[in-house]
Amino acid sequence: MTENKNMKSKFQPTKEGYYGQFGGAFIPELLYPNVKELEDNYLQILESSAFQEEYKDLLQHYVGRPSPLYLAKRLSEKYGATIYLKREDLNHTGAHKVNNTIGQILVAKHLGKTKIIAETGAGQHGVATATVCALMNLECVVFMGETDIKRQAPNVARMKMLGAKVVPATSGSKTLKDATNEAIRYWIQHPETYYLIGSVVGPHPYPDMVARLQAVISEEMKVQLKAQTGNENPDTIIACVGGGSNAAGAFYHYLDDEKVELIAVEAAGLGVDSGESAATSQLGEVGVIHGSKTILMQDEYGQITEPYSISAGLDYPGVGPLHAFLHETKRAQFMNATDKEALDAAFELTQLEGIIPALETAHALAVLPKMNLKKDQVVVINLSGRGDKDLETYINHLED
Ligand SMILES: *Cc1c(COP(=O)(O)O)cnc(C)c1O
Repeated sequence: MTENKNMKSKFQPTKEGYYGQFGGAFIPELLYPNVKELEDNYLQILESSAFQEEYKDLLQHYVGRPSPLYLAKRLSEKYGATIYLKREDLNHTGAHKVNNTIGQILVAKHLGKTKIIAETGAGQHGVATATVCALMNLECVVFMGETDIKRQAPNVARMKMLGAKVVPATSGSKTLKDATNEAIRYWIQHPETYYLIGSVVGPHPYPDMVARLQAVISEEMKVQLKAQTGNENPDTIIACVGGGSNAAGAFYHYLDDEKVELIAVEAAGLGVDSGESAATSQLGEVGVIHGSKTILMQDEYGQITEPYSISAGLDYPGVGPLHAFLHETKRAQFMNATDKEALDAAFELTQLEGIIPALETAHALAVLPKMNLKKDQVVVINLSGRGDKDLETYINHLED
């Protein structure tokens, strides 16, 4: 969380939460007091030594940080570059999401909240939230689309075992956006609860708060790269983007250093123009989703269109406002990978390095063959999560 106090970066949001034209807080009036309370307090809490001590302690002893930075020799040889993997897959609960939920549960405690609500699509954020609620002995209610509850039975079971209440969202397409609507409705009726958002999305200050909590990824990368290569900067960082939190964390401390190339990879599903895709930066237009102005996939009437990807964590119809800004300013290059390319990349990493990645992460790996890499080019891929949860999908494609 180092920040040059004298020179404000253009990649830090304004006081009102804007990155260029993107961001802000577009919320019903009834939610204003909740969001304002958080906005008034989050920076002070995050920067307090009480918070920092507990956050760092839990990251080290509970999550298992720092996560290793691993030089993938066989992958490097294959692509003719020097490729490191930032091993977020080795975190407790198997992905980067816990960095955020640990941080926000402490923020909730500092605000005196005793009940946590969250929404989840595939269930990964729900599990990460239920985990920290168990840890802190706080009540947890997770909203989840009815369709997703059926599709993601193991994560539903995990949440229940952790003591969370899983509430089905039965409206609309019964998926993530409907769960979000239910969570917001509940929040309006129960303003004493803390709403724990799982990515760099939502009304200000959530995108900034989540980016700061995930920034531990690039903070560690700097130290680890320095120790392993003598230079704290890589040439290129690659991360997959659903809402954008693992990418925000991997990019964070490099945003102002234009020499470091940033590559954000979206899910192209069956193909960007197939009608079955989640490549928001390619297909989206400016609009408001989940309380912030950003780019999102919408129809001619401005209604959110249902995204598709083989990986449940990437089929989100928007991207966070920071990413919309990174796209607009071209600070990050946006690429995409189809289901098929991601599957191939997952099998390749498994067989070259003995690491089974999450399907989301496999999209980041899948752009390697599309790049023009050089032998001494130092590339860091953020390995956002492990593939245990995707085993059924992988088994179905073993013969392909
Ligand atoms: C949820 C998830 C993602 C996508 O979310 P971001 O906020 O874009 O990081 C990516 N990888 C894994 C392993 C996930 O669980």
